[in-house]
Amino acid sequence: MKIKPTLSAPRKSPAPSFGSEAERLLRRSLTAVWHPCTQMKHHEWLPVVPVARGKGVWLYDMDGRRYLDAISSWWVNLFGHSHPKINAAIAEQLERLEHVILAGFTHAPAVELAERLSTLAPGHLGHCFFASDGSSAVEIALKMSFHCWKNRGQPGKNGFVTLANSYHGETLGALSVGDVALYKETYQPLLRPCGIVPSPDGRLAEPGESAEAYALRAADALERHLERHHREIAALIVEPLVQCAGGMAMYHPAYLARARALCDRYQVHLIADEIAVGFGRTGTLFACEQASIVPDFLCLSKGLTGGYLPLSVVLTREEIYQAFYADDVRAGFLHSHSYSGNPLACRAALATLELFEQDNVLQTNHDKKRYMNEAAAPLKAHPRVRNFRNTGMIWAFDVEGVSPHFPRELFREALARGLLLRPLGATVYFMPPYVIEPEEMTFLVEGTLKSLDAVCG
Ligand SMILES: *Cc1c(COP(=O)(O)O)cnc(C)c1O
Repeated sequence: MKIKPTLSAPRKSPAPSFGSEAERLLRRSLTAVWHPCTQMKHHEWLPVVPVARGKGVWLYDMDGRRYLDAISSWWVNLFGHSHPKINAAIAEQLERLEHVILAGFTHAPAVELAERLSTLAPGHLGHCFFASDGSSAVEIALKMSFHCWKNRGQPGKNGFVTLANSYHGETLGALSVGDVALYKETYQPLLRPCGIVPSPDGRLAEPGESAEAYALRAADALERHLERHHREIAALIVEPLVQCAGGMAMYHPAYLARARALCDRYQVHLIADEIAVGFGRTGTLFACEQASIVPDFLCLSKGLTGGYLPLSVVLTREEIYQAFYADDVRAGFLHSHSYSGNPLACRAALATLELFEQDNVLQTNHDKKRYMNEAAAPLKAHPRVRNFRNTGMIWAFDVEGVSPHFPRELFREALARGLLLRPLGATVYFMPPYVIEPEEMTFLVEGTLKSLDAVCG
């Protein structure tokens, strides 16, 4: 592929240019690697960054320039890149066992991790089913919910309900219960219909209406939907507190409490997709804790291994597990993934969980959150910025009156200032690794302001 020098998007600051070794790698990447979530043609004018190494919140390119990873490499990295304790845990496991089939076999990392997660999760979610990525965890929860009702003699409960603007991954089942048009629309003919109820997104409140009041009004709509359709519904799936891929839409926990009560009343499972918000991202270890609810299925991935290795898990409770426990092979959950419960990934996860305990992370994050909210005051006051919002270690704001190229333009301006930012449409967000220090937060805010002015000015 030839890279044309022409520009299809307005250009302000020059994109970083790289040394010859890096340039060669970039060319080979654009020829051989089909990059995810990317219109490849945009790379005719948009840089791909050749990353050589990472340390803490910083990524270093092949020419030694560094970028603050303000999005935790797609929300997976919790304790920074190349963390000595996670590195050591993986290296130690590597000397013993890299992988083994998890059907008919078991190993200490999977057992210890399952026990650990069950102890940490709300309620009694004592059964852990492992897979390799978030979308697969969502598929598992959907299939398990349906299969549970079927085993109990209610096969008609085979539909799902989701919230407007939700995101649950991009395999066909997960996409069916999502509602982000950008990812879903093209594939609509391949997807199964799904009930969609209003999002409790606090930005949708009427003037003068509190976020809580609006969340409860959205829950009323859920109630009407369940009242009419519950006989055909297996489960409601939600992203607790923050609809991340849908533009960091934050909502009041009162919605989750009502949703839990309604699911109980109408005999519908509640699937909590905490793939993005789990592991301290919203301020508590799990987002569900802020509504004091226990889901029937809890999906975890992303931060689970500290951002090191692909791993996901679905936790569920005893009664659901028992619905599959029988002599009949087909009553069992015959779902499998080749790398289910990979020992290296489980060790990375155990080391990550240990860091939460040793370093008093949730309390420290609370202080960091306060610092960031003060440091970000000039962003909040920026004339083009609307709806500055924060939940735990997630910050977001919407930029008014931007072009469709805004996400790529801001990405490029931020790169030129040593920042990795990846806006979702007109929404800019920070989801930094928890090891970010005050001076790095200041650097992040200042760089974002300059980038914003370069794009909008
Ligand atoms: C990222 C994400 C997924 C999908 O996880 P993958 O590992 O990318 O398949 C599902 N649900 C939510 C809420 C996510 O943020």
